[in-house]
Amino acid sequence: MKRILITGAAGFLGSHLCDRFIKEGFHVIAMDNLITGDLKNIEHLFKLENFEFYHHDVTKFVYVPGELDYILHFASPASPIDYLKIPIQTLKVGALGTHNLLGLAKEKNARILIASTSEIYGDPLVHPQTEEYYGNVNTIGPRGVYDEAKRFQESITMAYHRFHGVETRIVRIFNTYGPRMRLNDGRVIPAFMGQALRGEDLTVFGDGSQTRSFCYVDDEIEGIYRLLMSDYTLPINIGNPHEITIGDFAEEIIKLTGTTQKVIYKDLPQDDPMQRQPDISKAKEILGWEPKVGREEGMRKTFEYFKTLSKPELERTEHRDFTQRNKK
Ligand code: UDP
Repeated sequence: MKRILITGAAGFLGSHLCDRFIKEGFHVIAMDNLITGDLKNIEHLFKLENFEFYHHDVTKFVYVPGELDYILHFASPASPIDYLKIPIQTLKVGALGTHNLLGLAKEKNARILIASTSEIYGDPLVHPQTEEYYGNVNTIGPRGVYDEAKRFQESITMAYHRFHGVETRIVRIFNTYGPRMRLNDGRVIPAFMGQALRGEDLTVFGDGSQTRSFCYVDDEIEGIYRLLMSDYTLPINIGNPHEITIGDFAEEIIKLTGTTQKVIYKDLPQDDPMQRQPDISKAKEILGWEPKVGREEGMRKTFEYFKTLSKPELERTEHRDFTQRNKK
């Protein structure tokens, strides 16, 4: 049985990856420090013999007994609200955490896949974004802690590949959505759906002319799986190129949820990218991958999930006190 370590396993993407690799017959070693992750996302796996969980912070030395065939490094805060609230941890998990996991991959002779992001393109001046574009990032802005950590992560990963011969893979993940997104993580989809369910107005930041391209989680996981199993070592975009303005998206959510509330406008956060759309030619050509789930179907499934949340979960709009949690 192949053994895989998944960091950030209790998070949104991490938990879906755990499910996928269990389904593929792997022994899954899940790791999370539970700062932004939630055990609820993986509790259904605890009864399985081929699943184990380590409550561990990967910025500290990572020890895993036995052999490892694969490592997926998905531990990181990933929403603007989170990395504004825990900027140092965001930098550390992208930099020190990645260093530890690359060291582990080298030691175990394991193939490692690193979760990078469209944020490495910053507020892009090239549209749609190809993997060759170097990006337009404000190093000292509020998003800089995430963007630069992820850029460093790509550099150190390529260095381990070129200098130590470690088998590495780098996925650049564009906006992804689906069940198990945290309702209060501040991202636009849980924000709008939570607002619709609570009977609040939908908050569009800026004038709503900024664009995003949303990929359903099942498609994203399939792309990541194919990349891991491929022999391609340069970064690759995995996302859905179907682009929409946030203003139009709010209207879609109003229609989908049937809410009688309206759209209200708030200030655009600093350095909020004006447009984002992946060029996925490489993924198509090299991995034979493209997204299959349209926005209507994906959003419907996601809304079904949010509707299953209890009233207290729905009402809990304030964010976790990460500082208190860390002191424990
Ligand atoms: N956004 C919004 N209202 C919200 C939350 C987000 O209009 O309540 C906007 C945000 O300014 C950004 C877009 O939606 O332009 C996507 O934001 P998200 O935080 O989901 O992801 P990211 O900016 O990292 O792509």
